[in-house]
Amino acid sequence: MAHTTDVIVIGAGFAGLTAARELTAKGRTVRILEARDRIAGRTWVENRLGRNLELGGTWVHWVQPHVWAEMTRYGIGVVAGPEFEKAYWWAGGQHHEGPAEKILELIDEPNRRLLADTRELIPLPYRPLANPAVKGMDQDRLSDRIDALGLPEEQRQLLRAFWSLNFNGRLDAAAYTQALRWCSAASGDWMLMFEACATYKVEGGTVALAEAMLADAGAELELDAVVTTVEQDDDGATVTTADGRTYTAGAVVVTLPLNALDTVEFSPALSAGKQAAAARGQAGRGAKLWIKVGGRWDRFVAFGAEDWPIHFVQSEYFDEDSTTLVAFGADGTAVDVEDTAAVQAVLDRLIPGIEVLEVTGHSWVEDGFSRSTWPMHYTGYLSESLEEMQRPEGRVFLAGSDYANGWGGFIDGAIESGFAAARKVHEALA
Ligand SMILES: Cc1cc2nc3c(=O)[nH]c(=O)nc-3n(C[C@H](O)[C@H](O)[C@H](O)COP(=O)(O)OP(=O)(O)OC[C@H]3O[C@@H](n4cnc5c(N)ncnc54)[C@H](O)[C@@H]3O)c2cc1C
Repeated sequence: MAHTTDVIVIGAGFAGLTAARELTAKGRTVRILEARDRIAGRTWVENRLGRNLELGGTWVHWVQPHVWAEMTRYGIGVVAGPEFEKAYWWAGGQHHEGPAEKILELIDEPNRRLLADTRELIPLPYRPLANPAVKGMDQDRLSDRIDALGLPEEQRQLLRAFWSLNFNGRLDAAAYTQALRWCSAASGDWMLMFEACATYKVEGGTVALAEAMLADAGAELELDAVVTTVEQDDDGATVTTADGRTYTAGAVVVTLPLNALDTVEFSPALSAGKQAAAARGQAGRGAKLWIKVGGRWDRFVAFGAEDWPIHFVQSEYFDEDSTTLVAFGADGTAVDVEDTAAVQAVLDRLIPGIEVLEVTGHSWVEDGFSRSTWPMHYTGYLSESLEEMQRPEGRVFLAGSDYANGWGGFIDGAIESGFAAARKVHEALA
């Protein structure tokens, strides 16, 4: 069979762009099929509320080796976020406020205890299962581990809100091993982990990095190409889009998020293990919002209760007569990212006197091409599914942050996984 290209990459997020660039660098011809009318996937810079805002993935750090190398390669720097001076939090049924250090103090000791064995359990973050003990605790729920710390109620609630923020989801079935993996990637230091999550933004926005990678890729890109089926046999793979276009290749890199993987039909079907993991999905199903409030506010962070529609807010941009806040909630279906009155009602309980002017965001959970925000896994995923998701099936190779070893859940993990997939595809085609 004469193939349209050597490789088809489905999805132009960071995993797809990395795989495409690496494969073209090795002399392979690559076509990228992207469902949306833009590249960059779960990162998206848009002009909203009067400035360019990151509606999806945002923060990066030098402890994240893959994304940092890409920024060095393209000469892209970071912009530091504000240093916080004030904190608000909700615990024990009431509102509290104090200096920013107070909130760190409240969660420091419990986080240290929760994560004390990180380096012993996962000494090498890129080999998360190297210590067999980790497999044995992969059914442990983070929620139970937190409750077992025996904390005073105020601290327990705060710690639960902190981890619900990290999961961008409900803690019900969130895996304790996922918390260990994050902390291990930050060399066992939870404060460094927290810094890596929300301090330094990409200069020019994440789109600047994505565009630099695409320009370097020498791949053909088709936007508005919603893939519906991937078929393979001894001769090659055929990929079909919703509007009837078909393409053939020697291999296909599929970068769909875990929660959206079952929107594509594979023939022959993916393994039972992959299908089961996709059917269950992952826990990151929350919301991210941008909120413009009246007046110039302090540099603050605020934690609500874990089950509020919005449970974390921080001030990010400061203008003369307004402040722009970034906020998160654990359940993307519980908050309308455009509902000013609903957001006002939540903030009223947490930050007295605040006036919400405008609200915006993107509903990633209701978006059929993601159905999730950042990948945060349920109990059992690490030991039962991760290796299986990384295992190629004939000509089909999965890649994406959902399937990464190290900083899974981050842009870094997407790039790591794109590299791994490109290497495997190149070897398979050789
Ligand atoms: C709200 C939010 C906040 C985040 N915050 C951070 C952060 O601060 N720092 C950080 O490092 N990470 C963050 N992340 C996570 C990070 O953005 C992702 O882990 C990463 O971008 C995922 O890249 P990917 O290539 O694996 O997947 P994706 O970016 O999801 O790429 C998959 C691509 O496949 C396309 N696709 C889907 N279905 C089809 C189809 N049928 N046919 C063709 N194409 C299809 C999609 O449109 C998409 O472009 C955040 C994510 C969100 C949503």
